[in-house]
Amino acid sequence: MLNLKSRSRHSIISPVKDITIAIDGFAGCGKSTTARMVADRLNYLYIDSGAMYRAVSLYFLRHQVPFEEDNNEIKEALDNIYIDFQDVPGRKQPVITLNGREVESEIRMPEISGIVSQVSVHADVRRELVLQQQRLGEASRVVMDGRDIGTVVFPNAELKVFMTASIEVRAMRRKAELDRQGVDASLSEIMQNLAQRDLIDTTRAIAPLRQASDAILIDTSNISIEQQVDKIYFLARERMED
Ligand code: C5P
Repeated sequence: MLNLKSRSRHSIISPVKDITIAIDGFAGCGKSTTARMVADRLNYLYIDSGAMYRAVSLYFLRHQVPFEEDNNEIKEALDNIYIDFQDVPGRKQPVITLNGREVESEIRMPEISGIVSQVSVHADVRRELVLQQQRLGEASRVVMDGRDIGTVVFPNAELKVFMTASIEVRAMRRKAELDRQGVDASLSEIMQNLAQRDLIDTTRAIAPLRQASDAILIDTSNISIEQQVDKIYFLARERMED
């Protein structure tokens, strides 16, 4: 399903240790931007696990795969889904493709945000994506963000961060992001979607969103992206030089 050849783990003796960085948290608290910037600064690979769930959701929507409850069509559809991260000239981090097509902006559309948490509850979907994520982490030095990275995907990650922020701040940030992309969505619509996703993500039976006991909590309500990045970067350096 995935084919990526970058930032492979060191094969020679290095003064710094390769570590795995897991960043979990609620929707819209700046996880992806922060994780990408931390990865750039460390020359690590950034993997947006939410984008993988979004790509599966996009496929289900386009191919009318029913996802209200477990069924065989989900299993069959997963066999036809090929998610990849491909390097693109001029971009430091690879972009996500679904069956060979770049879907980076399509997967951010409100219609996908509206269904992704329902798609993510399915055991078959999670089993498949967690396996792919673990393979990526074995092959490369990664910063991965999501909902279950520190608890399920990489329970032994050297650095785990759990990010949170008030729902008002998160909704305003998401609105600014969508405005920049020219996507029309009202603040109340966005807030409703975030609250609904938080509820589904924290209460689902398999791999619910929760802070791992050894994760460091960062509340981003009143700090800038640069401050978030600095904080995680220095925590990472400490562990790399341990
Ligand atoms: O990170 P993002 O908000 O794009 O994630 C979209 C959705 O994908 C989340 O609301 C959650 O339902 C699901 N997800 C998940 N596990 C992950 C990452 C994302 O269930 N590791």
